[in-house]
Amino acid sequence: MTELGGANGHNGRTGQNGQTLLEVKDLQMYFPIRKGFFRSVVGHVRAVDGVSFTIAKGDTFGLVGESGCGKSTTGRCIMRLLDPTSGEIIYHDDHGQATHIEELSGQEMRPFRRHMQIMFQDPYASLNPRLTLKHIVGEPLVINNICRGKELEERVAQLLRSVGLSPEHMNRYPHAFSGGQRQRIGLARALALNPNFIVADEPVSALDVSVQAQVLNLIEDLQEEFGLTYLFIAHNMSVIKHICDRVAVMYVGKIVEVAETAELFGNPLHPYTEALLSAIPQPDPRNKKKRIVLEGDVPNPANPPSGCYFHPRCAYAKDICRQESPALKEVKPDHFSACHFANELQLMSAL
Ligand code: SF4
Repeated sequence: MTELGGANGHNGRTGQNGQTLLEVKDLQMYFPIRKGFFRSVVGHVRAVDGVSFTIAKGDTFGLVGESGCGKSTTGRCIMRLLDPTSGEIIYHDDHGQATHIEELSGQEMRPFRRHMQIMFQDPYASLNPRLTLKHIVGEPLVINNICRGKELEERVAQLLRSVGLSPEHMNRYPHAFSGGQRQRIGLARALALNPNFIVADEPVSALDVSVQAQVLNLIEDLQEEFGLTYLFIAHNMSVIKHICDRVAVMYVGKIVEVAETAELFGNPLHPYTEALLSAIPQPDPRNKKKRIVLEGDVPNPANPPSGCYFHPRCAYAKDICRQESPALKEVKPDHFSACHFANELQLMSAL
């Protein structure tokens, strides 16, 4: 088995065209816990604790896990909406130049944001209710001095058309639109600067099931049209299965399994992944697959358990699990797991 976790971890692949777009190496984001009159630091919440992965150009890379596992914090660190405690975030442009995002100053980051955009979960809270569509979608173009006046209007119309909205509505306010339409507005805004990479942070979880598929299909169509690469953050395994090429499963700030989507769903190598897969609703009522109900709560990232963080909830835990933290290792070609018994366990797939 090859061990790849840690600072030089790869946990990814290069794309079909042989190019890597983003590398994340040993990323840590610790939030200080302060107490007392002098607000002294008495501990840290380890929201992201040594995460490494690579995203290939043109791929959709999924980050999945229960709420509070650190997936959104990872996305925000990559976008530098949060300053990571340590680690490397390397962006490779079309000319083969590598930029260390974690080293950029606020001023250097501003023009760099043209390459990377974020789409937020809540389409109701993420759009300014006092601005019209024209202002919301056109704002990045105005801030970056790209166009104004008639040209701006034409570009906004083009962006709205590309996400399936009518340009005639550009003078309306967000409240006039449904949740699915608002998420389309968020996408149009994210596309305004022609980015290569989009962090989609739970983009469909606030939407009705009936409109989720439409937005997911649109996200896929836009990927093809504009050659986009996505980091897709979600807690819903069905959504991940639908849209991602490759998936990393997170638990209490760490990646516990990474593989191509079909491989991860068909041959899980970590008990936590098995439990997530068992919770996927079965469309066929005759398929009575056993649902694994995890006992207890997700551990507190300020005070995680010893050894494997999953051991208090794991049905397969043995003594070593309470003592030693398992490293993320390549158990099968291009399939990584952080479990002492990944080679031995016969886990239930989603099939
Ligand atoms: Fe379960 Fe042990 Fe594997 Fe952790 S290392 S997932 S506790 S079997």
